[in-house]
Amino acid sequence: MPRAWHLKSRPKGLPTAENFELKEVTLPPLEDGMIRLRNRWLSVDPYMRGRMNDVKSYVPPFQLGEPMEGGAIGEVVESKADGFAPGDLVQHMAGWRDEAAIAARGANKLPSLGVEPQRFLGVLGVPGATAWFGLLDVASAKAGDVIFVSAAAGAVGSAVVQIAKAKGMTVIASAGGSEKCDYVRSLGADQVIDYKARPIHKSLAEAAPEGINVYFDNVGGDHLDAALASARNHARFAICGMIAGYNDPKPPSFRFAMRIIAARVRLQGFLITDYLGRMGEFFQQMAPLVAGEAVTSRETIVEGLEAMPDGFLGLFKGENIGKMLVKL
Ligand code: NDP
Repeated sequence: MPRAWHLKSRPKGLPTAENFELKEVTLPPLEDGMIRLRNRWLSVDPYMRGRMNDVKSYVPPFQLGEPMEGGAIGEVVESKADGFAPGDLVQHMAGWRDEAAIAARGANKLPSLGVEPQRFLGVLGVPGATAWFGLLDVASAKAGDVIFVSAAAGAVGSAVVQIAKAKGMTVIASAGGSEKCDYVRSLGADQVIDYKARPIHKSLAEAAPEGINVYFDNVGGDHLDAALASARNHARFAICGMIAGYNDPKPPSFRFAMRIIAARVRLQGFLITDYLGRMGEFFQQMAPLVAGEAVTSRETIVEGLEAMPDGFLGLFKGENIGKMLVKL
């Protein structure tokens, strides 16, 4: 019998295992235009925390007692849709479960780029595309820029570091703890800050005595404040994520917000969903960097559907290096 994780209760602060329930589900009958899938890889992502709250946002909240969903790579086991055959590997949104029956229009066959399928949930998927478009399009970063990127050992951050180096930028990166900092250094970052060792604004001011042109924000809070303190005139900030606040209802305070005016900083938030129409362009430019190992990737893998909430919660405890994935 197929099984899916359901939202059992809404968390206050950091979620716990009690908020999730694994239950058997009945799949709908396969009608014309549908495919039946056996999931191989499931994605856990920080934005899913927002979907556990009952608030209006850019993605609808998970419903209490209902199956959760998210990015996944599945293998087609039965098809009533043109262009899909058993054995095809597809990317789709019916994650948090082992099997699914979905409309084929909600599935994309994986491009033949000669890489392992789970890369399409990481460096060649949403995190990689977020890094690519956030850095090059939203922040208009270019050769010669001094960029600062936070959560740099994670899925998005590690791709930002390497894309920036491949494009001739100077990279200052932050991560929590010495193991992660060593990893980020191995990716080519020019300076790496362990933000758990001392206040981030002090370390950043020392690492960038002449300031930064670009900030790629994955964290918000004190990291964003530190980046404002170090912003050069006309610095561009791509506001990608604010994970420091996802479990913390109290709003952050900014000591250096006035720098936005004095340094004429441009802050722009963005959603990767606005760029999905440009995935072809992303594959064309990113795939050679991945093939040539200018952009490498690492994964932290949690085994089995039962362990999925642990993998998800691990994102907020910094348990992942690179992309956090669940392998079925
Ligand atoms: P990561 O792989 O970076 O995993 C999350 C990491 O965040 C953790 O490993 C941890 O690293 C760090 N972290 C967790 N809590 C805190 C905290 N309180 N303060 C500082 N760092 C913390 O996740 P992703 O790469 O998938 O996502 C990175 C960011 O990008 C997230 O904010 C996410 O919401 C955002 N995002 C936005 C998208 C968009 O369309 N705008 C699309 C995809 C992602 P460490 O141990 O170093 O602290």
